[in-house]
Amino acid sequence: MSEAPAPMPGASASERARERAMAIPVEPPPSLRQIATLQQEVRMLASERDALILAHNYERPEIQDVADRTGDSFALSREAAASEHQVIVFCGVHFMAETAAILAQDRTVLIPDIDAGCSLAETITAQQLRAWKAAHPGAIVVMYVNTTAAVKAEADYCCTSSNAAAVVEHIFEEHGPDVEVLFGPDRWLGTFVRRRTGRGLQLWDGECHVHGAIGFSELAQLREAHPQAELMIHPECRCIPDVTQLLAEGGPLAARHHVLSTGGMLEHARRSDAPQLIVATEIGMLHPLRKHSPGKQLIPARQDALCQHMKLITLPKLRDALRDLRPQVQVPTEIAARARRPLERMLAIS
Ligand code: SF4
Repeated sequence: MSEAPAPMPGASASERARERAMAIPVEPPPSLRQIATLQQEVRMLASERDALILAHNYERPEIQDVADRTGDSFALSREAAASEHQVIVFCGVHFMAETAAILAQDRTVLIPDIDAGCSLAETITAQQLRAWKAAHPGAIVVMYVNTTAAVKAEADYCCTSSNAAAVVEHIFEEHGPDVEVLFGPDRWLGTFVRRRTGRGLQLWDGECHVHGAIGFSELAQLREAHPQAELMIHPECRCIPDVTQLLAEGGPLAARHHVLSTGGMLEHARRSDAPQLIVATEIGMLHPLRKHSPGKQLIPARQDALCQHMKLITLPKLRDALRDLRPQVQVPTEIAARARRPLERMLAIS
């Protein structure tokens, strides 16, 4: 049933990145009393520092609850760009803080743990992208925001999971139906966009170690065990080729499947009449879903779908970052100038 993409090398890099991520120890949460004390300290320091705290939907609950804004990487990029705060603290992973530093260049951007990386971003380097471009002269390059600033600097457009199809459509409208498009680094998102738009795309062979572990068979089992449930599936998941095939076939079973960004999941959960929702993404997402849609039963596609990088951000580290104003994330001026162009193009499209 699955449609295999014709990808570029990147699979071995995904495997190495997965091993590195799985080796990161995950600290247990603090006690409720410690959480309350630490959150109070964080809010006091944030006010003293004129700091805006942004937290991704995959962060620990106690981090999301103390943040000024939570959301997916697209929403948070917009928040960073629009913010007038002197300090932006990004509770997320390194590429997200880099994006904030590129879009809010005159501000101080902090990340509570500089080692919070991303297994997907690790699957492509600027040098590899330059080689891919050299093999496809004249091609337009779309890079997912889950990439380093140096990779973005080599791209024509950036995209997130919520606007990737719109970005690709825009390119074909601007450049005509014969334009060649290189899309990366996530092969599953690329496969989804290829199906959604009907456009031919060259795909990089990267994947995230969390979403790459969510296959179609576990979804099918959960779907059968919960016949009233709807499925909300992130387009980075490995099950995407089978899901898109099912959606193309149509019918009542297909109607239960929804491919969504994390922001899209919150919206969908609010509107849906289904009593149960199967959630195929990182399990941190259950926290904002519970808050936004309290009456729904949420069933994670995998209990172990946990991003060790995201969980490196803890309340003590957030407090210390605000107190010491470090670690700071800075992007070299020349790279930032080149990386801003694909990001701003993306923001203008969606
Ligand atoms: S969940 Fe995957 S894509 Fe998201 S930050 Fe973690 S490793 Fe990267």
